Amino acid sequence: MSGVHKALRQPTPKSGAAKRGRWAQTMISKGLPSKPLTKQSLTKLLRAEKKRRGIPQSQLVFVGIHNIAQWWWCGMYSVLKSQRNELEFFATYLADRVSLALSLDQVDTIPTAAFELLEVGAGLTLADLELHTKSSTQAQSQDIVADLISISPAIDKYENGLAVEMAQAERYPKLRWSFQWNDFVLIGIPDGITKKIVYEFKASSNEHFFRTAARPIANTQADLYGLFFGRNEKRVQVYIRETGEVITLEGPIDKDRAISTLRKFASVVAGSLPMAPKPFKCVSCEERDACTIRAR
Ligand code: SF4
Repeated sequence: MSGVHKALRQPTPKSGAAKRGRWAQTMISKGLPSKPLTKQSLTKLLRAEKKRRGIPQSQLVFVGIHNIAQWWWCGMYSVLKSQRNELEFFATYLADRVSLALSLDQVDTIPTAAFELLEVGAGLTLADLELHTKSSTQAQSQDIVADLISISPAIDKYENGLAVEMAQAERYPKLRWSFQWNDFVLIGIPDGITKKIVYEFKASSNEHFFRTAARPIANTQADLYGLFFGRNEKRVQVYIRETGEVITLEGPIDKDRAISTLRKFASVVAGSLPMAPKPFKCVSCEERDACTIRAR
């Protein structure tokens, strides 16, 4: 990697996950710039990244898997929301690559030149992250870098937006990573992940919304996570606010549904119009001002 110089390395501690975790945190903190990147610099970086990939500036590239699953609420909503959130997801993608590259001692500092920064962590995969996470606290490292690179810890606020209800969720380890699918980069963080399953937790006001919205959205989100994180089974739980009940669904990952949802999403990004949803969904929709198919 041109221009990214390696300083003298401290030896990696040979034993003790906690020790190695602390060591990684220290190395990461040393490599970070002293001030966070601004929204303006991130916007310039996003433009540079699209140019580097040979993709038109207007084309959507960085998308949260959470937003794609919203297709089952409204196809137009999932695309408009993704377009509005692209900068934040790009920041998350960048923060995760950089933090892993720093943790693995691939670089000592974050380069200031855009073309160098955008190359940091190229070639790193989920397998690298999983191997590294076994011996350290990568999630914390991602947060440290995200604070400095990102305009906000983008993705977690969508995944953890259930604040109170999340207290009902089961606890599993978490992983956050990005995946290439056609021209898109998809950023995902399941609510939990083990060697065998992905875990997704949602809340729904009542059983009607569970059947018509929360269940298909949560199932699809878990299918997408299973597809990209390479797990074959899912465990989905939905908290019903009206009754306080938690409904549990388990089963194999439906890769066909994951891929067909991605294709539908991509076709609207490319200009097709999705079917309009039931009019009540448009009443308080946060995307209604930008929406061309909303119920009037
Ligand atoms: S206004 Fe209605 S059609 Fe438009 S994005 Fe929102 S829910 Fe979908």
